[in-house]
Amino acid sequence: MRLATYGYVDMTSVWTFGAALILPPGVAIVLCLVVLVHAWVRHGRSSGMRAYRQAFVGAVVIDSCLTARLVLDLFPDGVSGAGKPVQVLLALAVTMLVYDAVNFFVLYTGIYLAVRPIKLTELLQTRQDAALEIATLCLGGLTALALANQPLLAVLVVPPLFVLERSVLTKQLEVAATTDAKTGLLNAATWQSMAQHELARARREDQAAALLIIDMDNFKLINDTYGHIAGDTVLRAVADCLVRELRQYDAIGRFGGEEFVAVLSGVDELAAVAVSERVRQQIQLLEVATEVGEVAPMTGLSASIGISCFPEHGTELEDLLHAADSALYAAKRAGRNRVVVCPL
Ligand code: GH3
Ligand code: MG
Ligand code: MG
Repeated sequence: MRLATYGYVDMTSVWTFGAALILPPGVAIVLCLVVLVHAWVRHGRSSGMRAYRQAFVGAVVIDSCLTARLVLDLFPDGVSGAGKPVQVLLALAVTMLVYDAVNFFVLYTGIYLAVRPIKLTELLQTRQDAALEIATLCLGGLTALALANQPLLAVLVVPPLFVLERSVLTKQLEVAATTDAKTGLLNAATWQSMAQHELARARREDQAAALLIIDMDNFKLINDTYGHIAGDTVLRAVADCLVRELRQYDAIGRFGGEEFVAVLSGVDELAAVAVSERVRQQIQLLEVATEVGEVAPMTGLSASIGISCFPEHGTELEDLLHAADSALYAAKRAGRNRVVVCPL
């Protein structure tokens, strides 16, 4: 399980979508530029977002606005009070759909081409993000309606907008507090609490579970040979490999350094060995680019994996970690690049 890494959500579409609905296209474009430059100066720059990325987002938003406006113009009364409420609602709904569709396809195609995620699901918005985007567009629509018909009523949009913005901030803080920034996996504390949760469930439902500790072999040598930045790229590639090879609901974390952990619910010793063997082989097949187009990719990576099983090696997380750790040391002592189950 990895928290969404590429999802792009902010609240600026309240203004950009609202502008698309009621302003002449030229003025709407200027307003979009002002809103997006402001968003970048206030938040994007400090959070490390590159200017070219914000420029790309800006181009996509302007695209969405212009297309939405073209569609809105197909409805004779647009969002003015002259139209019947049902017609206005229909015009708003269709325009919103088009705005979101253009935004989604252009933005996510761009992100896909740039980062080439391993799983398409990693790229897609979560249901929560999609709901937030819809709420933002609804507020944009209401703002435009108010400004077009009763401008003073537009102030009513401010409190819900404030609350929505707070909820986005809370979500971002939650992701930052639970994720390992380098690999996108769960951080050690979050992984431990998820692992506890999985073990409690296994106890309740009388099911098997396996705990894996995956430690990169001779990782110090990789750092010494290629440098720490390349070492970090390897860690990210290994994390991607784990996400690819394990199930979506398996709790995978970075325990520290070059050490990863995973809890596989409902998996017995035999299955855990098969999965770990597959992971070990896939790590061996990794080819990690050092610098774009410069040197040959790093190959010949390997990892040792220690396994402990619930309930055979313990029923508490601490005991299982201890057992998997001694299995890992046995794997290292036996020559590395192997999978070892803790003896009973
Ligand atoms: P072994 O096969 O016995 O596990 O050897 P090893 O070299 O992998 O293990 P050791 O514990 O000797 O060294 C771990 C290395 O991992 C040393 C440390 O600099 C490196 N390391 C830890 N965290 C990071 C990180 O976040 N990024 C990078 N690039 N290196 C890291
Ligand atoms: Mg190591
Ligand atoms: Mg280690």
